[in-house]
Amino acid sequence: QAQELSEAQIDYHAALQALVENGTRMVCTGRMHTDRICRFESLCYSTEAEEFIYFHSNSSVMLPNLGSRRFQPALLDLSSVEDHNTQYFNFVELPAAALKFMPKPVFVPDVALIANRFNPDNLMHVFHDDLLPIYYTMQQFSDLDLEARLFFMEGWNEGVHFDLYKLLSNKQPLLREELKTLGRLLCFTKSYVGLSKITTWYQYGFVQPQGPKANILVSGNEIRQFTKFMMQKLNISMEESSSEEYIVVFSRTINRLILNEAELILALAQEFQMKTISVSLEEHSFSDIVRLISNASMLVSMHGAQLVMSLFLPRGATVVELFPYAINPEHYTPYKTLATLPGMDLQYIAWQNTDREDTVTYPDRPWDQGGIAHLDKAEQERIMKSTEVPRHLCCRNPEWLFRAYQDTKVNIPSLIHVIRQTVKFKPGPKKHKWSGSLYPGKVRDAKCQASVQGTSEAKLAVSWQIPWNLRYLKVREVKYEVWIQEQGENTYMPYILSHQNHTFSENIKPFTIYLVWIRCIFNKNLLGPFADVLLCST
Ligand code: UDP
Repeated sequence: QAQELSEAQIDYHAALQALVENGTRMVCTGRMHTDRICRFESLCYSTEAEEFIYFHSNSSVMLPNLGSRRFQPALLDLSSVEDHNTQYFNFVELPAAALKFMPKPVFVPDVALIANRFNPDNLMHVFHDDLLPIYYTMQQFSDLDLEARLFFMEGWNEGVHFDLYKLLSNKQPLLREELKTLGRLLCFTKSYVGLSKITTWYQYGFVQPQGPKANILVSGNEIRQFTKFMMQKLNISMEESSSEEYIVVFSRTINRLILNEAELILALAQEFQMKTISVSLEEHSFSDIVRLISNASMLVSMHGAQLVMSLFLPRGATVVELFPYAINPEHYTPYKTLATLPGMDLQYIAWQNTDREDTVTYPDRPWDQGGIAHLDKAEQERIMKSTEVPRHLCCRNPEWLFRAYQDTKVNIPSLIHVIRQTVKFKPGPKKHKWSGSLYPGKVRDAKCQASVQGTSEAKLAVSWQIPWNLRYLKVREVKYEVWIQEQGENTYMPYILSHQNHTFSENIKPFTIYLVWIRCIFNKNLLGPFADVLLCST
């Protein structure tokens, strides 16, 4: 790898001179450590101290210049998981003159993206915390192209899914341990530090019980742009669902097993009249699984990281997530949240084993595989008797682990019943109607005209023109919402109207000023912006 790094020729003398004269230059985006990504020129790293170094000179720049707030708690999050105290990034400062006394720097010529992977052995974490954030961080900065190089600083070895990380750029990603072999002092010519969190949809329960993120900013469209990229890199063609329709059962072979898998496969095949195949991470290559899932009509799996692969399902497909006994599906929703992102166009169904007879527990396994033998007797008994794991924080709750690692005999009639409540006919991709959710613009040229009848009655005629973008769109249903508010009052009268004019007479008083708010609504739920408020005096 050292050789690979030096392939791109750089003028060593000039690079060293630039470092000594210009020092480090940093400009960041983001207002807080949790949303910050920084771009550096001449950021260095001591592989002995395992510290990043910022060199001060007359031309160095540090924006934001936070002073000691840089340590409260950090300059930025190095992984996409928000504010995790094992994932902070900072640097130590030195005058550029100190370089005279330091090891000769080795320059990294590639544009670098420096980040932490969060949990590279778990497929959900790989996609949600690393691959999608890396992909979209690279989209955000144009010099992070396919020739950029990824540097993973979390300190893990490659991990079982390293091949997936390699797809994101043409250069081999480098791990923290490997940097030592490159030299004692590395200097990144150009680098970006940190990851965008804009695509993440789930928080794992470090400060409050796990659940969907409060402000999700990603839609199915961006997820599918990413899967398209990954499939191209994996050489998997996006064949249109021409051939046979089928169901995929994604099984686990080590733990959290489906005990009657053969019976389940037969039952699904019979009920939906479709071929049903089973895959597992242990027995199939990643590409084969993607190829199969990307054309499947339905994906059935136990709750678990393998279900993140539903991001490769075609639009219209159904995800069926199976939950072991005492695990409330509503409390563990990473895959439900994914499947129901706007524009993912997947149907999501959860089934839970509610029958104690159908579960197999493993109290004597090690704690991290759900064993509870290490707990005191009373606690063990309480857990054994409990019918639902109470909400809890990540990551070592023994009752959660105990229930999460049960095996399950799936009650077939109950499962089919739950699926049939949602899937009436055949599951799978429907002829896709363009449900593109485009929002209306403001209504235009709003006007009002008042007329007074006597001393107690008045009318307000309001009219407006359609939003500008409507003339270029085919919209199933166009409605207008009008709010009439008496000046100085907090309340208003809302109306939903189909036409571009209306005369209001109910509750309209003479010699009063009204504020009229108008917006357009497409297809019931696509609410446009309000036009500038209209002032109307009766
Ligand atoms: N895994 C698997 N088969 C198994 C057990 C685990 O493929 O029988 C995978 C799983 O999909 C995940 C990783 O191993 O990528 C770690 O699994 P774990 O049970 O720790 O996490 P979970 O699936 O509950 O998120």
